[in-house]
Amino acid sequence: MRISQLFGKTLRDVPAEAETVSHQLLLKSGMIHQLAAGVYSYLPLAWRVLRKIENIIREEMDRAGGQELMMPVLQPIEIWQQSGRDRSFGKTLFTLCDRRERTLVLGPTHEEVITLLISYNVRSYRDLPLLPYQIQTKLRDEPRPRAGLVRGREFIMKDLYSFDVDTAGLDKNYQAMLRAYNNIFTRCGLPAIMVEADSGAIGGKDSHEFMLVAPSGEDEIIYCEGCKYAANAEKATSIKGKVEGGEPAAIEEVATPGMTSIEQIAAFFKVPQSRTLKAVFYAADGAVVFVVIRGDIEVNEVKLKNLLHCDELRLATEAEVSKAGIVAGSASPVGLAGIKIVADDSITTGTNFIAGGNKPDTHIRNVNYPRDFKVDIIADIARARAGDSCPKCEGKLASTHGIEVGHAFKLGTFLSEKMGASFTDAEGVTKPIVMGCYGIGVSRLLSAAIEQNHDDKGIIWPLPIAPFQVHICALYMENPQVAATAEKLYAELQAQGIEVLLDDRMESPGVKFNDADLLGMPVRVTVSPRSLEKNSVEVKRRTEKKPTLLPLDGIVEKLRELISG
Ligand code: ATP
Ligand code: MG
Repeated sequence: MRISQLFGKTLRDVPAEAETVSHQLLLKSGMIHQLAAGVYSYLPLAWRVLRKIENIIREEMDRAGGQELMMPVLQPIEIWQQSGRDRSFGKTLFTLCDRRERTLVLGPTHEEVITLLISYNVRSYRDLPLLPYQIQTKLRDEPRPRAGLVRGREFIMKDLYSFDVDTAGLDKNYQAMLRAYNNIFTRCGLPAIMVEADSGAIGGKDSHEFMLVAPSGEDEIIYCEGCKYAANAEKATSIKGKVEGGEPAAIEEVATPGMTSIEQIAAFFKVPQSRTLKAVFYAADGAVVFVVIRGDIEVNEVKLKNLLHCDELRLATEAEVSKAGIVAGSASPVGLAGIKIVADDSITTGTNFIAGGNKPDTHIRNVNYPRDFKVDIIADIARARAGDSCPKCEGKLASTHGIEVGHAFKLGTFLSEKMGASFTDAEGVTKPIVMGCYGIGVSRLLSAAIEQNHDDKGIIWPLPIAPFQVHICALYMENPQVAATAEKLYAELQAQGIEVLLDDRMESPGVKFNDADLLGMPVRVTVSPRSLEKNSVEVKRRTEKKPTLLPLDGIVEKLRELISG
């Protein structure tokens, strides 16, 4: 491709709305264009990258037994009502009304459609397993589209679904998919880390996410420095160390005028925050829930939401709190009645805690569970933090940020039961099909690749997904010798099957070099009057600072070596 003819112009300045590096570079390089919030056109350079990623994905999915198909974007709302997921997706579902006043959903994912399709096609255990997949545009009305292609409202996803006769079959396909995912990200030149992930309210089933580590990533990853434990912070657990509080003593009320925060209380009683109990109030589908947790630990709202099986969880408003009869600032589960109490299991790690007195300006000391209060549910609802102890090896946990580029999930029989997807086994017994689902954010991966691979001048494409492998900068095209040499090299490289971009514009060397750095092809070849004096060209990898002068004689072979190594 000649840059003079390439559809897509590089920009001098970065549009002000782009806050992440990948968003800035994708816009500045002219690779994408925003049509509406979270809705983009992919120009030819970006589309080449996406196609390369897709091809790697296809090869690995096919190799793992996948069969590619294509399902509709338009889906009747009834199938979402049948699964009950119209409620959990809520406003994220894009809906429209057709001319017959029927509501349709623009597919945010395809579990419902594929499970119905399977229900029509599978009768017997002999028809299974099946691993259908597609690569398709998905639509989600995200509350906060951000970072360009990282969180779009329209985006490209690969979604594969596994259908098996039993959990042993599911386990096998799940493992095969995790291996395929590792191959995909490795082959793209984008090493991802696999982390344990939240599996939602269905609970108990395995789920893993693949993350590209990047400071701009929305997801916090908690990992162990000693063993291989790594989990999304939404799911991560840690050991809650014991706190020494002595033999349980008698409860004692203490006046604490004006003190409401855990910091104030800990300082006043001269104890660490871990010796206090904190109360936090939530509204779960509108009903107030009283949460009690050790003072030094924060509530993990994802764990809490799963535990409560609710569709909406948020902090309760002041009005809701006082209407429930709670004395904010001095609240505690001691003597509290008529309200659901959920406790983090950290309340069992010590004795003689300081807690609220349930009347203004009052706290109590020597609170002991279960001696002094009862709870409705006790479970792990804590946020694991860097510095905590690893739940697997007791080593030290650390934290980093990542972009979720893939997700594997053991669905079990939840959806097949709802959608009526069953089979008859060898004994003639009808059973629900056991399901798994596996997504990769194809367009998100394009952005994530740039988040991971760039410098202050531009993109540094990993070779396997670069739009072109070689970028020829022909300096002073008006010089006939430069033009002839560049054209010849361009033709020869193409004849060898090498993907090459030729900067044949009448632009200054500065503009050409800046654009080469911005566009980020792995190898740059500069043809200039000066290099030709020595019958040579300058060759530089995008990752190198300085070019090397290489003789024109044998240059095609040399470049081939560079891009195959
Ligand atoms: P997130 O937690 O980031 O909202 P999700 O868990 O809802 O994502 P899945 O339903 O697991 O997403 O979708 C599979 C994959 O699709 C994700 O791993 C991610 O890479 C990609 N993806 C999801 N939502 C978006 C989006 N709005 N824009 C781009 N890619 C997305
Ligand atoms: Mg996910």
